[in-house]
Amino acid sequence: MMIPVCEPLLGAHEKKYLLDCLTRNEISSSGRYLKAFEKDFSRYCGARYGITTTNGTTALHLGLKALGLKPGDQVIMPTFTIASCAFAVIYCGAKPVFVDSEVDTWNIDPGEIEEKITRETKAIMPVHTYGHPCDMERILKIARKYHLPVIEDAAEAHGAEHHGKKAGSLGDLGIFSFYGNKIITCGEGGMVVTSNRTIAERCRLLKNLAFIKTKRFFHNEIGFNYRMTNLQAALGLAQLEKIDQLIAKRRANALFYNSGLRNISGLVFPVERKEMRNVYWMYALLVGKEFGMDRDQLMEELYKRGIETRTFFIPLHKQPALKKMGLASRGRFPVAEAISRQGLYLPSGSGLKRQDMEYICETIKRLRKCA
Ligand SMILES: *Cc1c(COP(=O)(O)O)cnc(C)c1O
Repeated sequence: MMIPVCEPLLGAHEKKYLLDCLTRNEISSSGRYLKAFEKDFSRYCGARYGITTTNGTTALHLGLKALGLKPGDQVIMPTFTIASCAFAVIYCGAKPVFVDSEVDTWNIDPGEIEEKITRETKAIMPVHTYGHPCDMERILKIARKYHLPVIEDAAEAHGAEHHGKKAGSLGDLGIFSFYGNKIITCGEGGMVVTSNRTIAERCRLLKNLAFIKTKRFFHNEIGFNYRMTNLQAALGLAQLEKIDQLIAKRRANALFYNSGLRNISGLVFPVERKEMRNVYWMYALLVGKEFGMDRDQLMEELYKRGIETRTFFIPLHKQPALKKMGLASRGRFPVAEAISRQGLYLPSGSGLKRQDMEYICETIKRLRKCA
């Protein structure tokens, strides 16, 4: 039996709401759960509008389209993130421009953003990695100086806070994913949240094939079908009801690991900066030289002992798909490259058992001793 990295935690309400959809014959892309999920989740984030989508990647694409991103434009983003960020920009015919990471939070380094801004830059896309908010104070200051919109990728940071404000509500718009391993899940799903009415209306129009209200089957522009189903929203709503407990468990996991692994040399732990609330979507750490075996060896040994782990992202500037297109922008990315080699995350789900965490800490301790 493996201890999985992450599994969804589903309960009675998920079942009840899903059955309710079937009973009412509301299984497609309209229905009460969609309305409630959009309203309640955007309110939870402190944003005025919520627009559901099929997944986080399409939420990114939709958000960028709503900002008016065009071929030739550029978007600044961390190199240390998931391919979705770069792909969504490329779907618009635009170009991702990469920035290195901060040493402690692994988020985009605000100190290196300004030098990447050109006349073609049309947006900044910070990503709240593994649940820790980016330094939005500095990022927003740069954005205001250059009149650039900010699209936050909060797919890993539901409920994370920056000076008391929730991730996703700090920029012009934020996006979320509700994939199976995220803090709350719809199976698959995504949402754009924003307090900007124009952006919200653009998202609503474009996600539904750009059908206009006044004339049926008449289109003024190219749209997309990024509609979530009422079934997915039913799951999402049930999950949202218990988001505080799901996050509390994630934070408790982190606390447990922090103390259980504290005395093991060679490990670098996740941080939580002052005035920030890390939701520890994944409990991520770095395996340094002093540990005595490298990241890949440790992962293999853990796997043999029934503990599943995952490596960190491979930076986007290293991706063959992007290099081939000449999109792996110039520059140095020493932090992203180092953490990508040394980083892994441990089982982190909201259903993780205490005795499993004890076993994981003990196993790592023993592996360190015989290393
Ligand atoms: C999961 C994730 C996405 C993509 O979400 P999908 O729903 O899988 O498309 C985007 N950005 C980040 C940072 C993610 O972790």
